[in-house]
Amino acid sequence: MVGRSGDRENLKTKEVDFMGRLPFIAGNWKMNKTVEETLALVRELKGSLKEIKEVEVAIAPPFTALHAAAQELKGSSIHLASQNLFWEEKGAFTGEISPVMIKECGCQYAIIGHSERRQHFGETDETVNRRIKAALNHGLKVIFCVGETLQEREQGVNFLVVERQIEGGLKDFGELALQNLVIAYEPVWAIGTGKTATPQQAEEVHLFIRQKIRFLFSPKIADELRIQYGGSVTPDNIKGLMEQENIDGALVGGASLNADSFSRIVRFKEM
Ligand code: PEP
Repeated sequence: MVGRSGDRENLKTKEVDFMGRLPFIAGNWKMNKTVEETLALVRELKGSLKEIKEVEVAIAPPFTALHAAAQELKGSSIHLASQNLFWEEKGAFTGEISPVMIKECGCQYAIIGHSERRQHFGETDETVNRRIKAALNHGLKVIFCVGETLQEREQGVNFLVVERQIEGGLKDFGELALQNLVIAYEPVWAIGTGKTATPQQAEEVHLFIRQKIRFLFSPKIADELRIQYGGSVTPDNIKGLMEQENIDGALVGGASLNADSFSRIVRFKEM
């Protein structure tokens, strides 16, 4: 069961939703912030999110700032994520970063398959699959990104694209792997464009993803899976998105670079 519509009113506060899914807000900093800037933002976030309990929070600074961020985050409930990783542990792979290194830096999560990786760096469903496997095998949790381009949406193939990305990215996975995985639905046309999907547009894809996971794995896994929305999330649109039955959080780009806007997104329940 995906949800009970009779409980819709209770969702307004979304402490823990229908299926006990803890809301999860993650900030993808992309190629922004030096080490010094990272430390400054982490300090601000630690202050503004000190009392946050019923929302899981993670930030993904660039590789170069992960270690420093982890040191600064000690004792805080904010989790740390890498923006990518390579599937091999070590070796002649110039310019790559292994899951072992990511773990050593203090990360709990890795973002895999972001559309900017797919678009600019040749990421495919197959390489996404290999990266997810490597991350999970090394004890990292994964934020697995999927989403269609504007052209694909206009051609009416958005569900097919998301379906293909899920089948490819999660190929040969068992139920156990899914317990440490979050899916982020990020329509490419909404990323960094200021054009957010409406809560209804996002919800219909989230519901589709959950049904797909139910079919591929099990009802239990589908009910427990957290699905984030990503694409121009701001303090002004987060509440409407989080009120949807199948939206369990957000992957935030631009608005995560500022402590005030990111904290207001995380504090969506207080609006
Ligand atoms: C992202 O990078 O994952 C993202 C959703 O970016 P933005 O919030 O800036 O659209």
